[in-house]
Parts: sequence; C-alpha cells; structure tokens
Amino acid sequence: MSSQTSTVERTTEVLIIGAGPFGICLAAHVQKLGLDYLMVGKPMEFWKKNMPAGMYLRSACDWHLDVSGVYTIERYLEEQGLKPADVEPLSLDFYLTYVQWFLEQTQLKNLPEYVQQLSRDEDGYFTAILENGSQIRAKQVAMAIGFKYFVHLPADLLALLPEGRYAHTCDFVDLQQMRDKACLILGGRQSAFEWAALLAEAGASDIHLAYRHDTPAFVEADWSWVNKIIDGMADNPGWYRNLSEAEKKEVGHRLWAEGRLKLEPWLKKRISMDHVHLWPNTQVASSTILPDGALELQLDSGKQIMVDQIILATGYKAAIENVPFLKTGNLLAQLEIENGFPRLDEAFQSNIPGLFITSLPAGQDFGPFFGFTVAVRLSAKLIGEGLRMACSI
Ligand SMILES: Cc1cc2nc3c(=O)[nH]c(=O)nc-3n(C[C@H](O)[C@H](O)[C@H](O)COP(=O)(O)OP(=O)(O)OC[C@H]3O[C@@H](n4cnc5c(N)ncnc54)[C@H](O)[C@@H]3O)c2cc1C
Repeated sequence: MSSQTSTVERTTEVLIIGAGPFGICLAAHVQKLGLDYLMVGKPMEFWKKNMPAGMYLRSACDWHLDVSGVYTIERYLEEQGLKPADVEPLSLDFYLTYVQWFLEQTQLKNLPEYVQQLSRDEDGYFTAILENGSQIRAKQVAMAIGFKYFVHLPADLLALLPEGRYAHTCDFVDLQQMRDKACLILGGRQSAFEWAALLAEAGASDIHLAYRHDTPAFVEADWSWVNKIIDGMADNPGWYRNLSEAEKKEVGHRLWAEGRLKLEPWLKKRISMDHVHLWPNTQVASSTILPDGALELQLDSGKQIMVDQIILATGYKAAIENVPFLKTGNLLAQLEIENGFPRLDEAFQSNIPGLFITSLPAGQDFGPFFGFTVAVRLSAKLIGEGLRMACSI
C-alpha cells in the first residue's frame, strides 16, 4: 500500500474517509472502476485499537472484501494450503492478516491521517482539512467511519455509576490490566461474554456480568439468510426502505435473534468457571465509593459486589451528529438526519450532493446488516455506481 506524505494540498475526484472494511472495499472497487480517488484513514484502526487481542469474530470466511471476488478470504487461505474449517472461528488476528494481504494485493492509495474538518464550498467541491493541517479538495466524498463515534452510553445507567470507574468496551481493550482484579460487565450479549472470557484468561479475580434479560443460548448463529438479502439488494437497493414498518421490524427482529439472542458456542466453556458470575434479569441499583476508595455496587436483586472496574458492554447506536469533522465544517447544519441516521438515497448519497455515507449510519435506509462486514461489497458496488455516474457529469 502506498502511504503518501500529506503536506501538499491536493485534489481528487473521490475522497473516501475511513480505512476499515467498508472504506477499503470501496477504495478497491473505485480503483477497479478507474476513478481518481484517495482513501484517508488509518487502516483497520478500530479493529486494532478498539477490539481486544485474542478476540474471535462471529463472521466467517464468506464475508470478504472484494467486489470482483478475486481477493477473497478463501483465496488467501488457498495460498497457504488452508481451508475455512482450518481457521474458523476466525480470530481477530487472522482477519487483520487477511486485510493486510488484501491491501498488499490491491495497493490502494491511502493517507493514514484524520480528517478534522469537512466543508462544502460554493463551487460544489468539498474541502477536507486534515489533522496535520493539509487540505484535500474532492468532487465527491464517501464516509465510511464505522463505529467509533457511536458508542452507546445509556444516560440512566451512567447516572448510577461513579465517574472515572467505568469504561465502554470500545475503550477497555487492554485486559491484562485486570489481572487479580474484579470487574462488573454491564450487558449480556456476545461482546459482554467475549470480554468475560478474555478477562478470565487474563487472570481477573472475579468477573460479574449483569444484564436485564435471560442468559442468551450458546448456539451457532445462522447468517445465511442475511447473505441472500444482501445479494438481492444489489439489484434492488430500495428493498429495505420500501418494506412496511412491520416488515422492517420483522427483519430487525430476525437479525436481533441471531445476533443478540445467541452467543457463540465456543464461548460457553471459556466462561464456565467459578469466578465468572452471571446475574441475568439484574440491573445496578446504586453504587458507593467506600472511604478506602473501594467500589461497592448494589444490584437490584439485593446482591452487593465489590469491584475494581465497571465495563459497559452497551453497544453502539448511530448518531451522525457526533462525527467531529461534520460539526467543525459546514455540513452538519445542512445534513438531513432522522433518529441519528442521515437520510440516504439508493446510492447512499445524502441530501448534500456528492456526500455519500455508508456503514452503521446507513442502517436506517439499507437495513441493520450495515453494522456488519457482510454489507461491505454491496455498499461498494452501489456507491461505486453512484460515484461513477456523478464523476462522469
Ligand atoms: C466487539 C466487536 C466485534 C465485532 N465483530 C464483528 C464480526 O465478527 N463480523 C463483522 O462482520 N463485524 C463485526 N463487528 C462490526 C464491525 O466492526 C463493523 O462492521 C466494521 O468495523 C465497520 O467497518 P467500517 O469500515 O465502517 O469502520 P471501522 O472498521 O470502524 O473503521 C473506521 C475507519 O475510519 C477511520 N476514521 C475515523 N475517523 C476518521 C477521521 N476523522 N478521518 C479519517 N478517518 C477516520 C478510522 O481510522 C478507520 O480506518 C464487530 C464490532 C465490534 C465492536
């Protein structure tokens, strides 16, 4: 991958902001279409910095990054004489090595920098100001900024917790610091249980999990039906938005049932130990800092526990207004937003001409699958077509 110096002002047809799976897949596709582009963002930063070492993925080898089907995970495996069954469930490390290989094969144009401000100028071009002060002008912008700005911290929960004693899973990935320490994880879905398993392996003394529902079942999730929907949307991008509210609810519930009512079976053994305590149908009632600084939590079951750290496995929720570079530029005031999601057309274009937005914030118009990498190729295909048409005007 060519990494370029960023001191000079430059102009490009397409600026892709974000170098996670959505940005990388889009950049590779746009490159194949022959468009002039630049991808700004640190490759796979969220996966490297905001997921814990040793984590396993829920997705398998079929969720690869190449629209043209050449640089697939299976091809990567073939080169090493391996089969999917040899590597599934996929480790975070494995996925990162696949993406690195993909980047080496595709040699994408990438600037590993941060956009600090994005504005639309009177001539219809966008100007991005990077953290290092340099500027990029672009005719079209595609945002693929993923999850980081959308950490969900429920206000009613925070009101019960002492400042400085809790962290969201996104910011709590160095689990070695919990050796011989006790923690409470609030949340009862896959990431809560996966953090619990990794904390147990890191030597935490006591791991409590409290959640408001029953313990989900340890059963393999079936995502095959999602692949079919995604494939169908390539020819019918309006499929999700044209469903009735009841139908959308049904799709959402089906995804929820796969993703949230099930835990991966490979987790069960790893959390089945005496010092991992499950508290289903339980919430925090209050918390007290004792005179010696110890943290005591009262659960609504009447149980009291002492912990060193609270970890919030409370997930992510789209809130496009949180994106810093939209706030600092002139775009946020113009952007049509509903429930935290930008309104997008069938090519992912927002109401601001030339501004395309994908990944999690596209979920309201394209479906909740956009929180997963299953959607990267569909996203790249549809945005690629939109960009190609806009660039030819
Ligand atoms: C714990 C956890 C486990 C998950 N497991 C799976 C799984 O098994 N399978 C699956 O399909 N999905 C999984 N997901 C979801 C997956 O992480 C997302 O679908 C995916 O990361 C979204 O990709 P993205 O490219 O949009 O953004 P991200 O991967 O979040 O990357 C964001 C990119 O944007 C860049 N960026 C951010 N701000 C700026 C800026 N201001 N300027 C320039 N660049 C910027 C970053 O540097 C980075 O390159 C998981 C998520 C979590 C939290």
